[in-house]
Amino acid sequence: MGIAIMEPLRGGYLARPLIPEAQAILDTAPTKRSNAEWAFRWLFNDPGIHVVLSGMNDQSQVEENLRIAREGLPHSLSEEETNIIARVQSAFRLSAEVPCTACRYCMPCPEGVEIPKNLLLLNDHHHLPAESRDALFRMRYGMRVTSEQSAARCTGCGACLSKCPQDIDIPSLMREILRLTT
Ligand code: SF4
Ligand code: SF4
Repeated sequence: MGIAIMEPLRGGYLARPLIPEAQAILDTAPTKRSNAEWAFRWLFNDPGIHVVLSGMNDQSQVEENLRIAREGLPHSLSEEETNIIARVQSAFRLSAEVPCTACRYCMPCPEGVEIPKNLLLLNDHHHLPAESRDALFRMRYGMRVTSEQSAARCTGCGACLSKCPQDIDIPSLMREILRLTT
């Protein structure tokens, strides 16, 4: 099955200056690339990815993306370059406001709430551009979380609380997500 990537730059977020810890890693990397090129090259490097759907605003962006696609063959990143990207990913994870590790010990929720996915998206919310944060969050949430998995189904029963090794107050974060999505 082919894999098509939507929002490869997360609505432009990855093309802008990143959080300082992540940006510093790219700025000091021996390989000089724009943030957008690093993001595209990481995707093209994966042989499982067939299509990358990216919005472009002008001719220069079309030409730039074509160049990156031509150079970005599967397995074209060096080990050093993949390590740089792994460090950037780690910087984002460490900056996450909710320390969910996606271990899934809290699952299953008796109401069907997909707790780790909800918390992953909540952490994403903190990294979205301030001017469009809530609208982008609502759009992404609607695309990625089904009504059966939604935080709206949380009854606050507390069954998940004692199972979380990170002591995350899951019910209150589900309420926070509900506030952001309604
Ligand atoms: S508190 Fe909410 S998320 Fe946790 S188990 Fe109960 S219904 Fe599920
Ligand atoms: S148990 Fe805690 S850390 Fe693990 S997935 Fe659930 S909320 Fe995240």
